[in-house]
Amino acid sequence: MKHVTEFRDPALAKALLAEIARLCDQIGATREKPVHIMEICGGHTHAIFRFGLDKLVHEGIEFIHGPGCPVCVLPMSRVDECIEIAEREGVIFTTFGDAMRVPGTRGSLMQAKARGADIRMVYSPLDALEIARRNPEREVVFFGLGFETTTPSTAFAIQAAAREGLKNFSVFCNHITVPEPIRALLGDPHMTLDGFIGPGHVSMVIGTHPYDFIAQEFGKPIVVAGFEPIDLLQSVAMVLRQVAEGRAEVENQYARVVPEHGNPASLAAIADVYERRPSFEWRGLGEIDASGLRIRPDYAGFDAEAKFGVGYGAAGPRHVPEPEGCACGAVMTGRIKPTACPQYGTGCTPETPLGALMVSSEGACAAYWQYGGARGAAA
Ligand code: SF4
Repeated sequence: MKHVTEFRDPALAKALLAEIARLCDQIGATREKPVHIMEICGGHTHAIFRFGLDKLVHEGIEFIHGPGCPVCVLPMSRVDECIEIAEREGVIFTTFGDAMRVPGTRGSLMQAKARGADIRMVYSPLDALEIARRNPEREVVFFGLGFETTTPSTAFAIQAAAREGLKNFSVFCNHITVPEPIRALLGDPHMTLDGFIGPGHVSMVIGTHPYDFIAQEFGKPIVVAGFEPIDLLQSVAMVLRQVAEGRAEVENQYARVVPEHGNPASLAAIADVYERRPSFEWRGLGEIDASGLRIRPDYAGFDAEAKFGVGYGAAGPRHVPEPEGCACGAVMTGRIKPTACPQYGTGCTPETPLGALMVSSEGACAAYWQYGGARGAAA
């Protein structure tokens, strides 16, 4: 198929692998002293394992899996609050399928649905809006979840609801942003990161400039990448070339999709509907300043937190400790590989997940499970 096959071309892949090996030798990267490249996005993690790139690249490359899976970083307290809303009388709770099996302290949304809550999977917030139009006597809540990729579509739904004067539609807003957790990781003295593969879909919305601080303040290269094998190999080579030449810049390998300044319509909708929370809790990373979005007072009627009195209210956020033995935080910050979690494959499997990383389509543990682990996984 055109526009896919050329990004999976074996001859091109071999040439890029040879270039990566040459650059690793030039830098002196070895299995014992690897170059640490964090792929921020969970979609990239899955692409790396799906195409076996972790095994194909020079042994001097170590991929560190970043916190770019929005379902994985959702704290258990927010799952509990989803269930609290969903179990209210008269509520239809709508969500993307990815979030259905994420465990909270009272089980998952799937289990709440089995107990009788009216929880429905949707493909878009506009589907939730349509459910609200057809059920004027019910309260329809959409679980707004995700990075800058999905943030605009939730904003468009809220704007449409406002235009139509819908009174029975609201959003439980859990939208989060990519740059702030990266700043937090870079500020951690225990992290060893030599460069980044930047997220492709998020950057389609925000452009490349929000990553300038990575290069300018922290002196690390970042290359925004696509999701095909050639995209990723080329991006790894671009990061290595910067390291070899002593440069730290923001480069855009995915220019066929990512505009330098992002998508103006999406950015305008985000600015219209949301404002920054002072801080937001991330699973495994704790509270991170200005990393979450909430609905602006102009759209307060569509804010499920205000409507149902849950979440970041006057009493502050509710904190729920992680399950015993769960290493989700260490995996999401790249400190250990999923197979080093004591629960991996024993207490935690896709059928009986302890953490969201095992059930999300972008979770690192799910990638290891699905594609059979990786070289050096026991590190
Ligand atoms: S194996 Fe399960 S508990 Fe361990 S890090 Fe992965 S999702 Fe979390």
